Amino acid sequence: MRSNLAGPRLLLRQLREVMAEPIKAQDRLDKIVVLIAANVVAEVCSVYILRADGVLELYATEGLNREAVHQASLRVGQGLVGLIAAEARPLNLPNARAHPGFTYLPEIGEDEFNSFLGVPILRGGRTLGVLVVQNKSHRAYSEDEVEALQTTAMVIAEMVAAGELEAIAQSDSGLDMSRPIHASGVALADGVGLGHVILHEPRVVVTNLIAEDSDVERQRLDAAVNRLRLSIDDLLNSGEMAAAGEHREVLEAYRMFAYDRGWIRKIEDATENGLTAEAAVEKVQSDMRARMLRQTDPYLRERLHDLDDLAHRLIRELMGREHGSAHDDLPQDAIIVARNMGAAELLDYGRERIRGLVLAEGGPTSHVTIVGRALGIPMVGQVEDIVSFADAGDAIIVDGEAGEVHLRPAQDIQQSYADKVRFRAKRQAEYRRLRNKPSVTKDGVDITLQMNAGLLVDMPHLAEAGAAGIGLFRTELQFMVASSFPRMREQLAQYEQILTAAEGKPVTFRTLDIGGDKVLPYLRSIQEENPAMGWRALRLGLDRPGLLRTQIRALLGAAAGGDLKMMFPMVAEVGEFLQARELVERELKHLRQNGKPTPETLRLGVMIEVPSLLFQLDDLFQHVDFVSVGSNDLCQFFFAADRGNTRVANRFDPLGVGFLRALRLIVDKSNQHHVPVTLCGELAGRSLEAMALIGLGFRDLSMSSVSIGPVKTMLRTLDCGRLSARLLPRLEPDHPDTDIREFLKSFASDMGVAL
Ligand code: PEP
Ligand code: MG
Repeated sequence: MRSNLAGPRLLLRQLREVMAEPIKAQDRLDKIVVLIAANVVAEVCSVYILRADGVLELYATEGLNREAVHQASLRVGQGLVGLIAAEARPLNLPNARAHPGFTYLPEIGEDEFNSFLGVPILRGGRTLGVLVVQNKSHRAYSEDEVEALQTTAMVIAEMVAAGELEAIAQSDSGLDMSRPIHASGVALADGVGLGHVILHEPRVVVTNLIAEDSDVERQRLDAAVNRLRLSIDDLLNSGEMAAAGEHREVLEAYRMFAYDRGWIRKIEDATENGLTAEAAVEKVQSDMRARMLRQTDPYLRERLHDLDDLAHRLIRELMGREHGSAHDDLPQDAIIVARNMGAAELLDYGRERIRGLVLAEGGPTSHVTIVGRALGIPMVGQVEDIVSFADAGDAIIVDGEAGEVHLRPAQDIQQSYADKVRFRAKRQAEYRRLRNKPSVTKDGVDITLQMNAGLLVDMPHLAEAGAAGIGLFRTELQFMVASSFPRMREQLAQYEQILTAAEGKPVTFRTLDIGGDKVLPYLRSIQEENPAMGWRALRLGLDRPGLLRTQIRALLGAAAGGDLKMMFPMVAEVGEFLQARELVERELKHLRQNGKPTPETLRLGVMIEVPSLLFQLDDLFQHVDFVSVGSNDLCQFFFAADRGNTRVANRFDPLGVGFLRALRLIVDKSNQHHVPVTLCGELAGRSLEAMALIGLGFRDLSMSSVSIGPVKTMLRTLDCGRLSARLLPRLEPDHPDTDIREFLKSFASDMGVAL
């Protein structure tokens, strides 16, 4: 049986009146503690507010020594009040003194009080303070009283959030609400952005907390829950969802929660206590978020996130808001903060006004990262809890180079980042000036600099960076950002657009390199022990020729009447290339038989990324029109060191003699067979490494567009002949100087090469 239901409702009604009175913040808070004490029949009611320095300061009290207001304080974790703040959980004790966490503060005069009930003041899962009631008697507060106190704490949370309490803050340190936060995550896309927070899923701020009529609120809640359930059922039943893998799983989880009696009952209880339906959802959501922040089990965290999203949807239902966010009123310096998002959602924002992206999740290979990188948006991922801490409009800095985020940064940090941005912009301007200058070494050797791409949004960089062409077009990216397999027509359209955007510059298309870490959610993946060495790339293409043939047909069609360069990834044996070529020939024949146009010229190549090919180069060069070294994969297989595993990825130096000899061998053989060679892995984009490659004899490099400026700057100051003359002997056996990286660095500094 629930006792005295009128109590909390009456209290909320009285609070509403106090909130509406035109009085000072301190007076309002003083009145609130009196009201609460009277309502729960407590001798003491106190409010502690969390300051930016992690101290909980007494802001108002009824029953304790008023002189101690703004004087008495506890650190988070200290005493019972500090414990509540640290754990974001209520504490209900008939005998507080017996609790091991009890700390005696002589100045506040709580000697005579025994029972203690404290609740965190929460907003959006963040603790803003603590609300406490105390009695002399050894009293056990009922569940309803705990609930009522939590509900009242929401009203105080709104006062804090509205900035009302800043005015009466007496310490130099501001309130925690506006505390600067420095968080480290994972650098996902290079660049530095200064701007203001846009929450990808804006929290709907519930300002109408207190209900006029609880029955009406209950009816509104029932209706909204029904609409929510229907909308999820509809989504699940829609044809599009039928096949969608992980999306469907999320929605199934949503459906489970939407029908969960426990969750709904908690919300109903909160409306019984006098909250509006939306405030009731918010309250339950806030308690739940606080729990989520402490949850370490990744699976449970994920489920709690789902529930959080669901609560959000329910609030939107209640407030009659559309799902999704409006992008029309984006500021000029938007930094988007999200738990996670799909690649398409990022594209929806439009590039112009986005200065950065911060994700609570997101990994280096997630689709949104691929697109963010292509768009040149500085990105940091895996910044836990960022969504709870950031408020719309907060100043924020994203450092995509160091993987750091500064929320509400102090003045000096802002200043130093502003300088950094200016410095980077100046350098970029210098690189832009270089884009039409010839890419020739000091001693007159032409070096072709191409860029890597994978999406249409990459294409404007071709002209901006002054690249000679696309040396590697990763066709799988279109597949990775799509929600289902792109059909032949869609692939064809994409390749046509790419060729049009290239404006006659050469494009080397690489056929699908899926599998391994390049996962397609709609392609059921098979669990493999070593996916990088597993069923991926051309292996998958040859085993599923339908897939590869469709792509080949689309490529042949898109380049009809023009030039087509196509290469195959992860070739381990010459025979695999011959099989792939056979497929191309069949497609060509098919097109011709049907009177369809075909490319004017067709060149077929192979990526050298599996070491076994190093021992088949003479055979290989007899068959291919060109080769491209995929140094990322070649290096990982050469050293047997996973490129994605930071513990081993940088353990072996590609500028060591072993790997350089392998690269030199490829150059030698390509010269001998007069077959063009390029290198399109990350090595090509790092200035010192690019210098080494040129010294080895590479004359064509393909890299990310942002690297073209720095590499061109380097090579225009390089005497290539001199470098080769000094580098190549170091690859001979028994050369006494074995540290080639050091040699390259001192060569560059002695010869004035601009690295
Ligand atoms: C490589 O392996 O070097 C390469 C360019 O291909 P990817 O990075 O797409 O595997
Ligand atoms: Mg590769």
